[in-house]
Amino acid sequence: MRVGTGVDVHPVEQGRECWVAGLYWDGVPGCAGHSDGDVAAHALCDAMLSAAGLGDLGSVFGTSDPRWAGVHGPEFIAEVRRRVEAAGWRLANASVQVVGNAPRIGKRREEAQDVLSKAAGGPVSISGTTTDGLGLTGRGEGIAAIATALLLAAE
Ligand code: MG
Repeated sequence: MRVGTGVDVHPVEQGRECWVAGLYWDGVPGCAGHSDGDVAAHALCDAMLSAAGLGDLGSVFGTSDPRWAGVHGPEFIAEVRRRVEAAGWRLANASVQVVGNAPRIGKRREEAQDVLSKAAGGPVSISGTTTDGLGLTGRGEGIAAIATALLLAAE
């Protein structure tokens, strides 16, 4: 077994589409970023890569590579899964927590877990929390996510 942790933060940008946990959130300001700014997907990718000893999102995808501009979270997760499985691991489970005022993850938890689990090839649970008005997430300046992934050696 191998465990890994991932964290991601993106700045909120008014007028930008909000993509978090592989879902589009209508009426919620989205995150700036080279891709779609999906902090939950990115934190999950980093947790899986770290657990497998395969580096991090920046080293695998490159933050300035035009191939990944605007790419949605599940596509990153699927590519990470491919690399993790090629290295002889499979996802036992993962847990992702989104920190921010919006979107409210609980409203679409099942849908989000379904999308993330399908892409990651194992059960992914997702939760949401706020920081009670404190810090960059509390002021609505950004959205953060933290993830833990547990990998098992493939049979
Ligand atoms: Mg990111």
